[in-house]
Amino acid sequence: GRMAEWGEPRFRADQVCGWIYGRKVFNYHEMSNLSKSLRERLSGSLLMPLPVLIREQASRDGTRKYLWQMTDGERVESVLLNHGGHTTACISSQVGCPLACAFCATGSLGFTRNLTPGEILGQFLMMERRRLDAGVEQGINNIVFMGMGEPLANYKAVLGTIRTLIAPVPGGFGMSARGITVSTVGLVPQIGRLAGEGLPVTLAVSLHAPDDDLRNEIVPVNNRWSVTEVVDAAWEYARVTRRRVSIEYALMRDINDSVSRANLLADVLKRRGDWGWVHVNLIPLNPTPGSRWTASRPKDEATFIATLERRGVPVTLRDTRGSEIDGACGQLAARETAGV
Ligand code: SAH
Repeated sequence: GRMAEWGEPRFRADQVCGWIYGRKVFNYHEMSNLSKSLRERLSGSLLMPLPVLIREQASRDGTRKYLWQMTDGERVESVLLNHGGHTTACISSQVGCPLACAFCATGSLGFTRNLTPGEILGQFLMMERRRLDAGVEQGINNIVFMGMGEPLANYKAVLGTIRTLIAPVPGGFGMSARGITVSTVGLVPQIGRLAGEGLPVTLAVSLHAPDDDLRNEIVPVNNRWSVTEVVDAAWEYARVTRRRVSIEYALMRDINDSVSRANLLADVLKRRGDWGWVHVNLIPLNPTPGSRWTASRPKDEATFIATLERRGVPVTLRDTRGSEIDGACGQLAARETAGV
């Protein structure tokens, strides 16, 4: 946009995108096919607010966690997971989170601010850059908005990022929308809005309880949109986009892991027709230090899965990659590492 205002032809902007998006070169002075005067004009006026890497941790299973600092000093984390030749980046959408789920590390921080599109995309760009530097040729295949924050509460910035990720090269990254997952606590109006975007992105809904009594307690926003409303919105999303929705359910010992809740979960999801529209993703709770919540006993976990399977519910148990570096689901809370 800005370059067009300067009267630069379209292909110049494509050249700049080619450097930044394609080759992960972020310094305008290194963009050797641009004129010196354009390079200077760009450096003087178009700042790239890229996150700065503060710390990188690797776990034995190959999972990496990154702590980034934004230009105003705020910090967020991202995680990179490898599953045999396939790489998924888990990125943050906000500094802190306003939803305050009882068991979530980020939720306990409170909310500071939304990330900008540049800061969201920047996490991905910087991880790609580091991979290139390490000699890894293959790019990141999947993006999940399961880092810090609620992506649908920062709707415009997240959508803008997704549009850049799926736009064709050189203006974008040419990623498949199907490889992008937006995980939400269940903001019903925004789920409807996302369904209307005409983008086949994958939706994950963090349900965690099949009844309002319990969900009101552990996912406080349920007091605003109930289990029924959230599941209806998820079903509608699947109907409109033809994409199977993922229902996230973190198993918490003696909280939500009883046989009766497994049956109730099947009831709540079954009412909406066949099982083609939904898939339940069980997550062993990652205990956060100082929290009273912990993972289910192995036998309760197995019974919960068996109950869902007996009812015909498509279900998988997520692995706990990266848990030794606090890089597993819901454990991203930059406060703990901010003093480093
Ligand atoms: N705000 C979005 C993204 C949050 S993180 C959402 O609510 O979906 C992604 C997932 O991790 C969510 O399902 C979240 O509920 C879950 N989660 C949070 N804390 C967790 C913990 N300690 N153990 C396991 N999963 C957790």
